[in-house]
Amino acid sequence: MNDSGTTALFSLPQRYVDLQEEARKLALACEDVAARADEADRFDPDVRERLAASGLAKVVVAAEYGGRFEAVDSLAVTVVREALAKVSAHLDSMFAMQGIGSFAVSVAGSERVRAHWLPKVATLEAVAAIGLTEPDVGSDLRAITTTVVQDGDELVVNGHKSFITNAPDASFFGILGKEGDDFSLVLVPADAPGVTVTTPHQIVAPHVLGDVVLEDVRVPLDHRLGERGQGFRLMLSTLATFRVSVAGASVGLAEAALEEALGHATTRQQFGGPLARLGGVPAALATCWIDIEMARSLTYRAAAAAAQDPLAGLHLSSMAKVGATEAAGRVVDRCVQVMGRFGLVRGGKMERFYREARPMRIYEGSTEVILDSLAKKLVKDHEGGAR
Ligand SMILES: Cc1cc2nc3c(=O)[nH]c(=O)nc-3n(C[C@H](O)[C@H](O)[C@H](O)COP(=O)(O)OP(=O)(O)OC[C@H]3O[C@@H](n4cnc5c(N)ncnc54)[C@H](O)[C@@H]3O)c2cc1C
Repeated sequence: MNDSGTTALFSLPQRYVDLQEEARKLALACEDVAARADEADRFDPDVRERLAASGLAKVVVAAEYGGRFEAVDSLAVTVVREALAKVSAHLDSMFAMQGIGSFAVSVAGSERVRAHWLPKVATLEAVAAIGLTEPDVGSDLRAITTTVVQDGDELVVNGHKSFITNAPDASFFGILGKEGDDFSLVLVPADAPGVTVTTPHQIVAPHVLGDVVLEDVRVPLDHRLGERGQGFRLMLSTLATFRVSVAGASVGLAEAALEEALGHATTRQQFGGPLARLGGVPAALATCWIDIEMARSLTYRAAAAAAQDPLAGLHLSSMAKVGATEAAGRVVDRCVQVMGRFGLVRGGKMERFYREARPMRIYEGSTEVILDSLAKKLVKDHEGGAR
């Protein structure tokens, strides 16, 4: 593609194209272990080693602390996730969580805490995780019961965090707790006395997942990320930077499903011809293609806006997250249908894609919760004359 006229308007700048190529190479290098890794409930050692060796995890850490770019760039994270998720959800999650789990440290950690953890996150020597959800609290995070109490020059944390990605392999957790009437985010090393990780749940698309119980856990005062009461602000800035990357992963997954269905539909013969020419099958394939291209266009636009100003572009990132994850759900469902019984075979690629598409509509802001906040903004802007 050349860099002039409308082509340039609708193509990625070269540095993202190069990054995409790099991520595709890593994904291909993990293809041989993808099926195994995507069923794992602990870090797959080969995937971890290959991701670390690729240097791609540096994309989610700022250059000052051993990262790739000056600041974490939403479009960079998004194009990498698109390429990784096309091959392995485990690889994609491992990459993304290093950023999601460490972003608050990057923007608000004390100098000592940043210098200790971030270079290790960039090399995967340390594994990052974030603990917001509790057994009785999911979307309604203001109802959390985890507490943070300052005691001299220490913070004491008590609580129970649930469904925490990476928990069994994590080196540290960003824990959201109530400090009096305020909400604070505190970095808790996984080996701090009083931290227990359990694994009571596993989901349809296996994930490195665990619960974290914190009993009188003491950490130095400088482990509070930012000031007391900045917990929600830090979560919002994490979401604003990373939410759109879930959309990128959904696009990659949907594309992989369509390629699998196409391979089947063009080679399987029924009624004297390929499935791809029969009845509703061509329409199903073409509709998947449209869904994917629409999702990708909005995702790149939202990711580019987030790369400029994450908070100002949060509504676009939210739209992309809902649009692309819901599109991926529709695409994999149609692709299963196109493949008939072969789409259902346990251990087959399509069955894996079908399961992997489902959680994306629930984590990092469920579809309904995001729709509710988008509708509120729409109405507010309308009433304020902004539209
Ligand atoms: C694979 C996976 C990984 C996860 N990793 C992490 C992690 O690393 N850290 C972490 O803290 N959490 C994590 N979670 C938890 C995740 O953030 C929650 O599942 C999510 O916030 C939704 O909460 P919930 O499941 O309790 O659903 P609920 O909040 O109970 O919601 C249930 C249903 O009600 C709807 N609903 C709820 N509130 C509203 C509303 N106001 N308006 C309209 N509809 C509403 C929801 O959309 C949903 O459909 C993970 C979850 C999964 C599945």
